[in-house]
Amino acid sequence: MPDYRRLLAKLNPRAVNFLGAGGGAPEHTTDDLNGALGMVSDGLGRQLLEACWVLGPGHYPTLLMDTMKDMVHKEWTSRRIADEVARLSLHIAEEDLAFRRNPTHDQKMQVTRLKLEAEGAKLRAWPYNPEVHVQIRRAVLDEIRGQNHCETCQGRESVWDGDLSVTCPECNGRGFVALSGRKRAEMIGLSEGAIRNTHQWVDLYEWLLGRCRQAERYAGEQFERSLGIGLDKAA
Ligand SMILES: [Zn+2]
Repeated sequence: MPDYRRLLAKLNPRAVNFLGAGGGAPEHTTDDLNGALGMVSDGLGRQLLEACWVLGPGHYPTLLMDTMKDMVHKEWTSRRIADEVARLSLHIAEEDLAFRRNPTHDQKMQVTRLKLEAEGAKLRAWPYNPEVHVQIRRAVLDEIRGQNHCETCQGRESVWDGDLSVTCPECNGRGFVALSGRKRAEMIGLSEGAIRNTHQWVDLYEWLLGRCRQAERYAGEQFERSLGIGLDKAA
C-alpha cells in the first residue's frame, strides 16, 4: 500500500484525535500532512485523495462527483459526435452508390470502409441512462478505495525473488487487481448479463476508472514528495 494512502487516513476526522497519543512522536503531524495535501495541484487527483483516503467509504463529495461528470460528458459528447459524423459519412457514400448505375470498385470499397468505421464509432458511443451514469461514478470511487489488494504481493507491488525485489507478476506492479464483471454489475445496479450485452457500459466504467486511478496516483506521489518521502531514493 503506498505511503500516501496510509498517511492521509490519519487526517480522517475520526483518526485526528488519536494522532500523537501513546508513546513516541508521530512520524508526521497533522499540520505536516495538511500542508502537504495543500501542495497537491487542485483538481481530480487531489479531490480523489481527499474523498478516498481522508473521508473514506460512504462519502461522495459533490465537487468530485461534478469533476467526474464533466470529464465523462466531455468525452461522451465527442464520441457521440464521432458516431453521428460516421453515420452521415456512410449515408452520403451509400447515396452516391445508389445514384450510380455502375459504381467503381473503389466506390464500393469506400462504403465498406465507412460501414466498419460507423460500427466502431457506434460501439464507442456510451449509452443513455442517467441512473447508471451516476452509479458508475460512485462505483468507480468505491473500487479505488476498496483497493482490492493483489493476493500475491499483498498490495506491495513487488515480491521477493531470492534476494531481489521484483515487480509482482500477478498484478504487473499495480498492487491491486480489477474487480470481477459480476461485482461491478452489482455495484452499478445492473445484471451481469446486461453489462455483458452492453459493452459500452464496461467501456465507460474502465475509461473513467483508468483516468481516476492515474490522477489519484499522480496526486499521491506529489503529496509524498511534499513530505520528503522518496527524495532520498531519487538523490
Ligand atoms: Zn501483486
